[in-house]
Amino acid sequence: MMRGSRMESMMNRSRWDLMATLVLPALVATGLLIPMQPVSLQAQQVDVYARPKQVERSRDYDAIHYRISLSFDLDQQSFVGENRITLMPLDDGFQRCVLDAEELVVDRVDALDGRGVEFTQTDRHLVIEFDRAYDFGDTVRVAVEYHLDGSAAGFFFDEETPDHPRMASTDSWADEAHHWIPCYDYPNDKVTHELIVEVDRGDKVLSNGRLVGVTDHPTDADRWIWHWSQEQPHATYLMMVAVGPFAVIEDSLGDLPISYWVYPDDEEDARWIFEKTPRMVEFYNTIFGYDYPWAKYDQVTTPHVGGGAEATSATILGQGVIHDRRAEQDFSWERIIAHETAHQWWGDLITLREWSHTWMNESFGTYSDYLWTRAEWGEDEGAVDLQGKKNQYLREARDRYMRPIVFDRYERPGDNFDSHTYPKGACVLHMLRYILGDEPFFRTLSRFLHEHAFQPVDTHDFMTTVREVTGKNLDWFFEQFIFSPGHPVFEVESTWNEGNGILRLQVRQVQDTSRGVPIYRIPVVIGIELPHEKTSMELWLREKEQVFEIELSARPLMVRFDEGNWLLKEWTFLKSRDELLYQLGHDDVIGRMWAASELQRFGDDPAVVDALDRQARDHEFWAVRRGALETLGKAGEEAGRQGGGEAGSAVRHDLYRLLSQDENSKVRVTALRLLGASGEPDLVPFLKERFGDDDSYLAQAEALRSIGKCGSRSDVRFLERAGRMTSHNNVIRRAAERAIEEIGGR
Ligand SMILES: [Zn+2]
Repeated sequence: MMRGSRMESMMNRSRWDLMATLVLPALVATGLLIPMQPVSLQAQQVDVYARPKQVERSRDYDAIHYRISLSFDLDQQSFVGENRITLMPLDDGFQRCVLDAEELVVDRVDALDGRGVEFTQTDRHLVIEFDRAYDFGDTVRVAVEYHLDGSAAGFFFDEETPDHPRMASTDSWADEAHHWIPCYDYPNDKVTHELIVEVDRGDKVLSNGRLVGVTDHPTDADRWIWHWSQEQPHATYLMMVAVGPFAVIEDSLGDLPISYWVYPDDEEDARWIFEKTPRMVEFYNTIFGYDYPWAKYDQVTTPHVGGGAEATSATILGQGVIHDRRAEQDFSWERIIAHETAHQWWGDLITLREWSHTWMNESFGTYSDYLWTRAEWGEDEGAVDLQGKKNQYLREARDRYMRPIVFDRYERPGDNFDSHTYPKGACVLHMLRYILGDEPFFRTLSRFLHEHAFQPVDTHDFMTTVREVTGKNLDWFFEQFIFSPGHPVFEVESTWNEGNGILRLQVRQVQDTSRGVPIYRIPVVIGIELPHEKTSMELWLREKEQVFEIELSARPLMVRFDEGNWLLKEWTFLKSRDELLYQLGHDDVIGRMWAASELQRFGDDPAVVDALDRQARDHEFWAVRRGALETLGKAGEEAGRQGGGEAGSAVRHDLYRLLSQDENSKVRVTALRLLGASGEPDLVPFLKERFGDDDSYLAQAEALRSIGKCGSRSDVRFLERAGRMTSHNNVIRRAAERAIEEIGGR
């Protein structure tokens, strides 16, 4: 159901909520990025520093309340509307009021105290001139009548298609509310609002806040009126409306109404897809130490958002969230649902006051989806999720650019919604949590939300709360990780001196510091395993090169740099084969995956193949099995290129066959891919059997691709038949087509 056009429009607008969550598994799947070459600033493609410098917008009035009435004609794809605006001048002599308004057409403006007004509409603004001035403290009330014909930026009319019903919906992010409401459209001023919407009976209306009521139209029996009221102030980009024949699934958490608004055909799948929502709200209530702030929580599916878009009490989700149960193992939206739910606090309750501070919304949102994953799926899934976030940032740093997280250079607000804002910021919060300790960290989050509830905030507000709650001045930490670009790149070496029983640990920071990347002051945990004991110690790094001498009772079996995986870093740590084999068999999942990828250096060494084979078969966590499998696969390909490895290849094929029936679909996909890479015609019957028996669309698609590599013209009919199977995102049809092409090309 995911269509290219939506993906494309999402990408154009740099909306990364989907990227932040869905791309991660794919990145992890293509091999660990953990050992990387140090990022070179010269290699970067995009000069983000050439973008224009932005400052927070000034204003001369405080918008207080919008009472918006909209009357829809979905057949004509239009509405007529009115916004009754209440505002207060911020100084005396207020005679000219400038509102943001674009695409919508203003028909009439009235001052509600009976004064005379004139108005002009420019491309971007509605300018209202009063016949005399108001003073500071006055209340100014003005009614703007307007209409919109056809879709606009942030406002979408849709005909009925096989994918969705006839409907209308919005995505006001980042500054597009003023395309459907004349308003002050910048997040440094929060407002309350009402939305009173007239539609055909049968169409339902969702908006922010509390449903005041649904009433009959006074004169037209075929129409009804929905009245929503958002009674706590919020930013205009969080305003939303969705109109359509939705099925509404009602759920709750205690007194809090929670509903899922979906297309009528999607009701059955939506029930289980959204069923964790109440537990997510409860989880965030607890860890944020601040109860869910809004009157209710709704989620609605629409055709125009790629991933999700937060809106107070009414999250907008792309219709791709709906999928069948088979697709859940490969295409779960659980993290997006968690991420958007967390925005009800981070982004909605507190809101960035200017678009340099995107991390106040998105890094906290992204860290929150990690926290949910860790709590719901366990430590190992949490660790892999976090590693995926690190890799996603490191990839952007390597391939595109590095910038400070708080960054005032952008053309459009969306420019900064990238892998610095989402995953890097989340990883920085994780480091901050380590430095502060769990309880002080979460106490800080709670205090921050309480102190700044319903207000716009910036990074300095948060830094102040850190100082107030913990007593610690961590400005140096923010300076390094929030206001400077880059990340540490470590070269670690350890040497053991049997004579004096001293382990010498040398840590160099080798990041390119030419463009503002600092030498970092950061604590790191060193874990040391001896034959009969295990110790950990915290060392503080603060210089370009440091040497630590640690006295030990015996030669260590494993020296672990950054035990607990707290740091966002690149690093190299050259270890012997035996050290890596020990780490592969004894470390946490991230350490085992790292050791597996390092062991590739040793090629077809029988001890290495044996150890990787054992991890691939027996480790209880899928990502370790897959990591070991991938290394074996790469080493196998290398041996194949050098013309050897016949015996090893038989062993490998047994393993690949076994793991193509692994309980985890991601492991199966890798195993099926490796089988296909062998090009062995004998494998075709087995691959066909896997296609028939597997319950993962992705694994089935991989089986077809592998048939394309191993098969012959006699398999084309099978592939054609297989390609007719309905699948999520049409992955099977596309794989079949590619396989047929590949056979045809031979
Ligand atoms: Zn987000």
